[in-house]
Amino acid sequence: MITGKLLLHTCCAPCSVKCIDSLAAEDLRPTLFWYNPNIHPFTEYRSRRDTLVKFAADAGLELISNDEYGLRLFLRNMPADKAPERCAYCYRLRLEKTAAQAAEAGFDYFSTTLLISPYQNHDLIRAIGEELGEAYGVKFLYRDFRPLFRSGQGKARELGLYMQKYCGCIFSEEERYT
Ligand code: SF4
Repeated sequence: MITGKLLLHTCCAPCSVKCIDSLAAEDLRPTLFWYNPNIHPFTEYRSRRDTLVKFAADAGLELISNDEYGLRLFLRNMPADKAPERCAYCYRLRLEKTAAQAAEAGFDYFSTTLLISPYQNHDLIRAIGEELGEAYGVKFLYRDFRPLFRSGQGKARELGLYMQKYCGCIFSEEERYT
């Protein structure tokens, strides 16, 4: 059992549902953090962001929103348009902003809802999170939420949350439909 304040990077509302439930079972009530410049195009970004804003309000959870759309930043610094380099850059971009925000605002821990997805490179997310935790002096809270993924998606549908059809970036959208 741990105690302290947790900043939870939140990639989208559906992925957050069961992460939040699981953390609640540990008596942890996270503050959600929206920073996802990897989501394209803007209409998709807006749908996911607005869904999370409503979900957080309904759940009575605090949400810190860094609402930089970030398309140009994402593409300008992207080292490669293929995974795994593309995704490593994407994880680091989002987790570094989260770690910096957590340090600045006095959180004890940071983590990410990306840890629930069986489609992400779980071990890489953990390695980058722990490296950034050392660098920013805020512990990365690692949890393997993956066993909760399917039930979380089901609960998100029951709640009527907007469900995305691809990971986020324009490359993942192309891969989903070609
Ligand atoms: S596929 Fe997903 S994790 Fe990988 S770069 Fe695109 S948005 Fe980021």
